Amino acid sequence: MNFADLGLSDELLSAVSDAGYETPTPIQAQAIPQVLMGRDIMGCAQTGTGKTASFTLPMIDILASGRARARMPRSLILAPTRELAAQVAQNFETYGKNSKLSMALLIGGTSMGDQMKIIDRGVDVLIATPGRLLDLFERGSLILRDVKILVIDEADRMMDMGFIPDVEKIVSLLPQIRQTLFFSATMATEIKKLADKFLMNPKEISVSKPATTAETVRQGLMMVDCKPHDGKTKRTALRALIDSEDVKNAIVFCNRKRDVGIVYRSLNKHGYNAGQMHGDMVQSARMETLDKFKNGEITILVCSDVAARGLDVPALSHVFNYDLPSHADDYVHRIGRTGRAGKDGTALSLTTPSEKKQLAAIVKLIGNKIPPVKLDAVQPVEEKKAPAPKREKERENTRTRERPQRGARKTTDAVMVQEEPADGVIIGMGAHTPAFLLRPVVLDCSASAQSEEKSAPRKKAPAKKTTRRASTAKAKPRAKKKTETTTEEKTAQE
Ligand code: AMP
Repeated sequence: MNFADLGLSDELLSAVSDAGYETPTPIQAQAIPQVLMGRDIMGCAQTGTGKTASFTLPMIDILASGRARARMPRSLILAPTRELAAQVAQNFETYGKNSKLSMALLIGGTSMGDQMKIIDRGVDVLIATPGRLLDLFERGSLILRDVKILVIDEADRMMDMGFIPDVEKIVSLLPQIRQTLFFSATMATEIKKLADKFLMNPKEISVSKPATTAETVRQGLMMVDCKPHDGKTKRTALRALIDSEDVKNAIVFCNRKRDVGIVYRSLNKHGYNAGQMHGDMVQSARMETLDKFKNGEITILVCSDVAARGLDVPALSHVFNYDLPSHADDYVHRIGRTGRAGKDGTALSLTTPSEKKQLAAIVKLIGNKIPPVKLDAVQPVEEKKAPAPKREKERENTRTRERPQRGARKTTDAVMVQEEPADGVIIGMGAHTPAFLLRPVVLDCSASAQSEEKSAPRKKAPAKKTTRRASTAKAKPRAKKKTETTTEEKTAQE
């Protein structure tokens, strides 16, 4: 099938061909004829499948006849984030270059006055985030009675971000008779219920199984045996991962905004060409960074989920997850930034033993184990070998052997030590790792350790000995934790 078979106008076919598209993607092939016929759509499609064109292309043809009146947009596209809305607007410009349609982008962080002026003149297509749209509506600057086509893009994300009440309110302000196109990367029960409320006899289109990862993305998982807040170890591991790959351009995802800033500064300090993007940055700075990343001035973009949602960076070579996301769906969205439109991509994730629940949820959702990544510089936890069970004597020997050398660049021990100069941010104990954490753990000496502990209170030991015993007691729970971690990781991966 090619674009000419879909019923699109010659102007659109020429714009599509100028964009370099030769054949429609599956969602385009299925959705475009249906939208042109006026049907509602319930599309289950992940990012990178070409879903934006599947609704923008037919909308341009439908809206070609008719004119917008002042403050009364003829169509409305709701997107969960500013970046996604801006991207949809860009798509409209690309595909609509041969049409005379007017468009307004209504997003937070940009001048409300300018947006009101455009809307005052009348727009055919209004692309908005829900919050800003309601703001403007409540000021009386917008009348929604003339909206003939409504698009709800990334509905699952709207739900995650708590926008559903806003979306419901907006829909209640629209005419009952309209065409609604509803897209979501996943079709969980709640999303389906929502779709049922908004759609009339929709054509259901699913271009891949819900929440599957694109086959064009090579995935990998590196276990970093450190505490959740041991940022230095994680940053060392991240750099090792980046260095191990032929990275042309990459997005690094962090769960927390605070980590976005820390990782961004750290990467720059270590000579990487990185930028950052998170929800607390003003819109102009976000857009500027995004432009720099898209045109190659920045190679690595460190960002939060909200900021990066729906980002379309052509030919992104890598995605790195600095943490595993708390929602398994986000894993699919994150890695979907790469391997888009049939191109190959790589998505590598760092994980720590404390993220076992997130990992299990991701493995369950994608229905596959994520292959482990093994690097010499950073040894994954599953590679660890328990020291020989020779108790005290062995412990004494290894105590000196295992102590890290100052200034060494790389560590092969399972408990990694940050050896590079601090990058300005000290978390917890900073670069210092207490000796008891570095001590190897004896896994099968619990019986003797227990009997030692039991007998301890009865003896009146001198002060020096008590200190020693205390450190033995400290080491014991760690031994247990390590045994548990290894087993749980296995379970999670299975
Ligand atoms: P989307 O899933 O809408 O975010 O689109 C993902 C990427 O695929 C974007 O960079 C589009 O420009 C590109 N794309 C969309 N449709 C096609 C097509 N038919 N052929 C090639 N690339 C496409």
